[in-house]
Amino acid sequence: MSGVTFRDVKKTYGDVLAVENVDLQIRDGEFVSVLGPSGSGKSTVLRMVAGLESISDGEISIGDRVINDVHPRDRGIAMVFQNYALYPHMTVKENMSYGLRLTTDLSEDEISSRVTEAARMLEIEDHLEKKPANLSGGQQQRVATGRAIVREPDVFLMDEPLSNLDAKLKMHMRTELQRIQEELDTTTIYVTHDQEEAMTMSDRIVIIANGTIQQVGTPDEIYNHPTNLFVADFIGSPAMNLFDVRIDGTTLVGEGFEYELSEELARTARAGGSDLVLGIRPEDIRIATEAGPNTVETQVEVVEPVGSDNYVYVTLAGQDCTVRAAADVRPASGDRVLLTFDESAIHLFDAETETNVHEADTTVVEQPA
Ligand code: ADP
Ligand code: MG
Repeated sequence: MSGVTFRDVKKTYGDVLAVENVDLQIRDGEFVSVLGPSGSGKSTVLRMVAGLESISDGEISIGDRVINDVHPRDRGIAMVFQNYALYPHMTVKENMSYGLRLTTDLSEDEISSRVTEAARMLEIEDHLEKKPANLSGGQQQRVATGRAIVREPDVFLMDEPLSNLDAKLKMHMRTELQRIQEELDTTTIYVTHDQEEAMTMSDRIVIIANGTIQQVGTPDEIYNHPTNLFVADFIGSPAMNLFDVRIDGTTLVGEGFEYELSEELARTARAGGSDLVLGIRPEDIRIATEAGPNTVETQVEVVEPVGSDNYVYVTLAGQDCTVRAAADVRPASGDRVLLTFDESAIHLFDAETETNVHEADTTVVEQPA
């Protein structure tokens, strides 16, 4: 078993608090992304598992073994860095075998067969005798990955490994890394600031901001049930539309905007107070053909065709709003349009605490027998 468990982990660099309260259980064979903006503490989390940074407080285990005081070399991990860190004077083959030669007592035959096998998986068999300088960025990335694979670690640790590749290659390598991870079934912690990368590659995503975990969930859970405003805003492109509203009885009221909620949702929403933030994703807003309950009239400002869809920019409830319409729905700038959305697509957040109003709802009150 080689899952990774964090128990109330904290890291400080002198007076700087980098991360705290990290509680997390990563299952054996799972692909987990740590996603967050720059400076949020992602690398710190990974580097503590690797042993490149000490753990200030709490415990990290790999399998059943607490690794806080285990030498990095004996943790059963292999790391892939953003800058690949290849040795320029060594060939691909030497780069891939160097670590094994240094830290294991494997025979030359065994080392050679591991390198050949990893090179096959990564389709770099033809480049084994080349030096890094003679490889493309994508090939260098493969060598760095190969060097991790040959170690046959219990856990792969990857820190923004695709950041230096252009967009098209990045997409290709995403699929490649996923395929390899599935084939090897090795527990993987993957650090990225790119939400699309995290959403497409991961079994689960850990969202971190300011050194604190915001949410842990499958891509689907994170997208459809963001626990707070930060996650709601960070995940999704174009981003979720957010409006300041208040609740009056069962009505959400914003600037020139009213939306009638069901009694049930209204009750949940009111529990947090009257000031709320209404979130609605661009693809959940429809352009209606006739006025009805919960339709709002507004004016189209700009239409941006992106091939598969049209992004329609409007002002709603006094704020900028993006509507993602089908390619054949193409209003013109200045057109008056009616917008509507289903209650099931609505996200509501307490304006003060910024948490999803459904979060406060999770404590089930015991019914008397
Ligand atoms: P990320 O990888 O999400 O960009 P990091 O984990 O690198 O974030 O950094 C988290 C926080 O810790 C930041 O505030 C950063 O400035 C700080 N930090 C990281 N490494 C060091 C260090 N060696 N010394 C002091 N502060 C550091
Ligand atoms: Mg980092």
